Amino acid sequence: MQPLDLHRSRSAAARGMPMKTDVIIIGAGASGLMCAIGAGRRGRSVLVVDHAADAGRKILVSGGGRCNFSNREVGSGNYLSNNPHFAKSALSRFTPEDFLSMLRSRKIGYREEEGGRYFCSGGSREIVGMLREECAAAGVVFRMNCRVLSVDRGTGFRLETDKGAFDSQSLVIATGGLSYPQLGASNFGYAIAKRFGIKVTPLRPALTPLRFGPEDAAPFASLAGVSLDASVSYEKAAFKDKVLFTHTGLSGPAILQISSYWDRKGSIAVDLLPGVDISGILMENRRSKALLTTLLERFLPGRFVKAWCGLHIPVQPLNRYTEKEFAALAGKLHSWRIRPADTGGFDKAEVTLGGVDTEELSSRSMESGRIPGLYFLGEVMDVTGQLGGYNLHWAWASGHAAGECA
Ligand SMILES: Cc1cc2nc3c(=O)[nH]c(=O)nc-3n(C[C@H](O)[C@H](O)[C@H](O)COP(=O)(O)OP(=O)(O)OC[C@H]3O[C@@H](n4cnc5c(N)ncnc54)[C@H](O)[C@@H]3O)c2cc1C
Repeated sequence: MQPLDLHRSRSAAARGMPMKTDVIIIGAGASGLMCAIGAGRRGRSVLVVDHAADAGRKILVSGGGRCNFSNREVGSGNYLSNNPHFAKSALSRFTPEDFLSMLRSRKIGYREEEGGRYFCSGGSREIVGMLREECAAAGVVFRMNCRVLSVDRGTGFRLETDKGAFDSQSLVIATGGLSYPQLGASNFGYAIAKRFGIKVTPLRPALTPLRFGPEDAAPFASLAGVSLDASVSYEKAAFKDKVLFTHTGLSGPAILQISSYWDRKGSIAVDLLPGVDISGILMENRRSKALLTTLLERFLPGRFVKAWCGLHIPVQPLNRYTEKEFAALAGKLHSWRIRPADTGGFDKAEVTLGGVDTEELSSRSMESGRIPGLYFLGEVMDVTGQLGGYNLHWAWASGHAAGECA
């Protein structure tokens, strides 16, 4: 990584003067690095400040280290926000193909998996390496392990840090959300927004496992590690994917997806047999002496079937059930209602829902309407992607948009 211009900073410090730069970006994560590349390529002097020792730590853990960096189909419909149209402009100006061509230009391999998800063949490290090299080529200067003590605004912005003072024309806040504090997440971006009178929408963990209440926890306690294919819905949102039992509740892609929509008000519905006409199958087998569990085990894991039936229906040979009981059973299998007690919290959430209100920002540049020269990018904004590479893509697209203007 290119070192900071020590000569300039030492001499400035010696004179007690802040180092001057065109753009300061706080946050060396996905969106901050992308913005730094864009602004640097335009000839702007760029300083990136981060309190962590290394850049791009969340990129490194993303997709379990394989980095699901984007998706073949990315549209504003893949994002939750108070303003569903806000993301359109930035997404149209930085597409998945744009990121792929960056990878190709550096001969970094990638592959498309189920659901159009793009993964880096060589893992997340290659993506971080590419972004760092592009930053170096664009003359971007880094100050890592740097704690921001204060931010002030005069004609431009002044940052006081434990590594000295810095002045800039533009200030970009790319400090991400609250999820995974163990990776350096902080409330810095929200605090800065509030400090400048910029609205922040309510924050909550998203793409997170869900915890069972005590009544659901006991019967499924021994199922940790069992997974099944299901369709999980809450209000108008529905996702068909894997559901995984954990020691405390449910996880897996379908649950992570629905957690972003679950507002704690109601129960989620799990269709355990999506696309299976279980009513018809039960009726076809109504004269069979086989146990109900034997039939259900054709479709669902045996341990789950036993635990689930223990809660919902006495197990007996199929020829002993009435038609009414079959109908009720089919209804429950297609709509198993679960009322989670809680989410996994920010410690387990991949992202933060809510953030800097998009009404405050230009959808073209991510600049604050209230404070010219101040920009917010990536996860700190009220734009939250679904699972599938959409959050990193938003970081790239919003970073690119600001990099063209900051
Ligand atoms: C475990 C996990 C797996 C994920 N997997 C995927 C995936 O496969 N695909 C996908 O699309 N998304 C994934 N995400 C989400 C994705 O990583 C984030 O949405 C994305 O990194 C957000 O980019 P950002 O630039 O807004 O913030 P970040 O990448 O989080 O960067 C923020 C930066 O700001 C710095 N910072 C924070 N506070 C301060 C402060 N006070 N002072 C100075 N610096 C500060 C941090 O150290 C960090 O470097 C995953 C997230 C997690 C936690």
